[in-house]
Amino acid sequence: MVFGIELILIGDQLATISGSKNAFLSVSSVLSVANKMLSVEEALDLVAKHCSPLAPRRVPLGEAAGLVLAEDIASDVDSPPHDKAMMDGYAVRSIDRQPERQILEEIAAGSVPHFSLKPGTASHIMTGAPLPDGADAVVPVEQTELVSASTVRLQQVAPARGQHVLPLGASMRAGEVVVRSGAVLRPIEIAILAETGHSSVLVIPRPRLAILPTGNELVAVREKPGPGQIRNSNGPMLVAAGTRAEADATELGVARDTHDDLTQSIQQGLAADVFVLCGGVSAGKFDLVPRVLAELGVEQVFHKIALRPGKPLWFGIKKAGERNVLVFGLPGNPVSSLVCFELFARPAIAALAGRGFAQRSSVRAKLNHAYDHAGHRAAYLPARLDDRGSEKSVVILPWQGSADLATLAQANGLARLPIEKRRFEPGDMLDVLLI
Ligand code: AMP
Ligand code: MG
Repeated sequence: MVFGIELILIGDQLATISGSKNAFLSVSSVLSVANKMLSVEEALDLVAKHCSPLAPRRVPLGEAAGLVLAEDIASDVDSPPHDKAMMDGYAVRSIDRQPERQILEEIAAGSVPHFSLKPGTASHIMTGAPLPDGADAVVPVEQTELVSASTVRLQQVAPARGQHVLPLGASMRAGEVVVRSGAVLRPIEIAILAETGHSSVLVIPRPRLAILPTGNELVAVREKPGPGQIRNSNGPMLVAAGTRAEADATELGVARDTHDDLTQSIQQGLAADVFVLCGGVSAGKFDLVPRVLAELGVEQVFHKIALRPGKPLWFGIKKAGERNVLVFGLPGNPVSSLVCFELFARPAIAALAGRGFAQRSSVRAKLNHAYDHAGHRAAYLPARLDDRGSEKSVVILPWQGSADLATLAQANGLARLPIEKRRFEPGDMLDVLLI
């Protein structure tokens, strides 16, 4: 009962402290006194509170794809700049009715017409070229036949006014805002920026992400592990996950579990916007990461959450002038590392990039089998989603614990098992986070 009351107090404090760093510290100490781990949702809230978009920067248009625009973009031209033929054919006056027309000239894209259309005339015109004065429709070349070098017969004698013509300014007008601040620059927006003469744009830059694997047992990918050693698979995995999350990701190289080595590498990592360490955050004798982070001025926001896999997750911030460096200490087990990255680091990267604190999308799917969920933590378990049928279904993969990368490779989602439920029956609906 006492425990229950404590939890309510913690909830109240969390609700009233937004933005106050000292209050966070006192809340985390209250939490450690109560020895109650944060839920995933509480931990996500704390991470989200420390995320704000990076300062905008001007970049060449060729480097802007995928970034978030930080200014409104106005057009400096009308588009199209003239009434424009949308087909190869003959520019005509739609009110004329006679099948045979005298050809006045040939108008290619990039040239301008020299003659106005009079009754009984037409001009041969190519896609993209400006319509001559007097013309208001295009008859496609397939619906015409040449009678002589200077005469064409139209099979379609009464085209609708405006047929195959895009009027001047129909797409956009000079001065009009065509892409708004906050838009993610997809290829189509890049095209609009190019069309409207913006060779550089103000954007929120890609967050710099530093990855630091830690552990005495780790050897490089190209090496054959000796006794007691394993290859560093997390480093490349997290760089790949970071790149996929649209961060500018680099791996700093493996740090050994020594105070000096960690100190040196962590100093380097703190130059990034997001610093992700893996390993060394559990309760082992050589798990020195939290201590060294604290010595280097990184303030702990939380350590350990009610998540399986991923309980040892550590999160803190380092104030560096105006900016915050977000520091995540992920557990070393590869599956835990990836789950924690996807749940926490990915949305943080998105928020810094101006895209908002959001995970990848989830879908609801029907569990295919019974499942018993032990423990008192929410679980995000490697799962195989089948979305081919009319109803999505999911299988939780029989994984061998959080070092089991081979099973993770079969997974296309993480099935979320909420903290409050233990027994799952076939047909129960689960959220599956797509990975
Ligand atoms: P730790 O969190 O440091 O206690 O590590 C937990 C487990 O994850 C240990 O079995 C480590 O060997 C393994 N591990 C830690 N870092 C890596 C890494 N970079 N690549 C692959 N496995 C790792
Ligand atoms: Mg370790």
